[in-house]
Amino acid sequence: MGRYWSRLARKLEPYVPGEQPGDGSYIKLNTNENPYGPSPKVLDAVRRAAGENLRLYPDPTCDAFISAVAERYGVKKDQVFAGNGSDEVLAFSFMAFFDPDRTIVFPEITYSFYPVYAQLFGLDYATVPLDPGFNIRPELMKSSGGVVIANPNAPTGRALPLSAIRSILDGNPEAVVIVDEAYVDFGGESAVGLINEYPNLLVIHTFSKSRALAGMRIGLAFGDSGLIRAIERIKNSFNSYTMDRLALTAGIAALEDEEYYRDVIGRIIKTREWFTAELRKRGFSVPDSSANFVFASHSRVHAGELYHRLRENRILVRYFKKPQIDNHLRITIGTDEEMRTVVEVLDRIL
Ligand code: PMP
Repeated sequence: MGRYWSRLARKLEPYVPGEQPGDGSYIKLNTNENPYGPSPKVLDAVRRAAGENLRLYPDPTCDAFISAVAERYGVKKDQVFAGNGSDEVLAFSFMAFFDPDRTIVFPEITYSFYPVYAQLFGLDYATVPLDPGFNIRPELMKSSGGVVIANPNAPTGRALPLSAIRSILDGNPEAVVIVDEAYVDFGGESAVGLINEYPNLLVIHTFSKSRALAGMRIGLAFGDSGLIRAIERIKNSFNSYTMDRLALTAGIAALEDEEYYRDVIGRIIKTREWFTAELRKRGFSVPDSSANFVFASHSRVHAGELYHRLRENRILVRYFKKPQIDNHLRITIGTDEEMRTVVEVLDRIL
């Protein structure tokens, strides 16, 4: 504890991101990155943008990028907010829509940044249990203070159908419902098409997963223009230029190469289905995943031990030492070759 720390800095329990080892000698399956890399057209565009113009500030309104997003998703420009990774967009959204005297709710097992933001902004929160199959129970997701869910959920990979998202929205007309769709492109049903119907719906997207741009930090929010204006007020009270020139360029170029990304997503889904079946053959219980990772628990060997043994074999996966999930591993889907290696190493360990 630092002598000069504020009370806030003293009491925080920050989010702990997955390791990013510098030496590249690991098969890295711990932070749900995309193993295939961004479209070659994105790399070209970024190289071309890395020039003299970097002396100039980027466009604070992200206009060209937001236009491209609006066109691609069939929404209006004033229904889109763009920011520096979806973590930041989520943080702004918590500030824009939630108040300290009204409890917000999210699932008991979900993305562990949500409680961190709640604490940072002094918000009261309650968690709601999942069903035994790790599914979010829509009928319990109710609060006049606000609702946050990830769909597909993390780290479980389980997705709710759009009908369940509708019932959550119908059950919470007083509050903003945030649907974090970080993994939706791998098999979920997106709620972006509902934003005209529900003025309380905010859908969050990221370019870090399906679009393989985690290193660029690009996130989006889709919602009623009234919601978007509130997020802009927060952003413009914090940092005018959250998206840099290279990120804006990469974002636009990524939207122009949908074909490349459709192919990559298809490959990841295929590998996921193969890998899930291989794990099940070896005594793992694995709920069907709609994301680019699987959530696995072995009948005999504890997840903590598996995590260490995989690590000794230069394979990094995510292990959360937390109640209810401390006997599970979250394993990102890599290339076919990487996943074959994981299966071989598991065979030796087991
Ligand atoms: N939401 C969920 C559910 C996630 O798993 C992640 C990735 N850790 C994020 C949001 C944040 O992604 P990013 O900030 O890279 O856009």
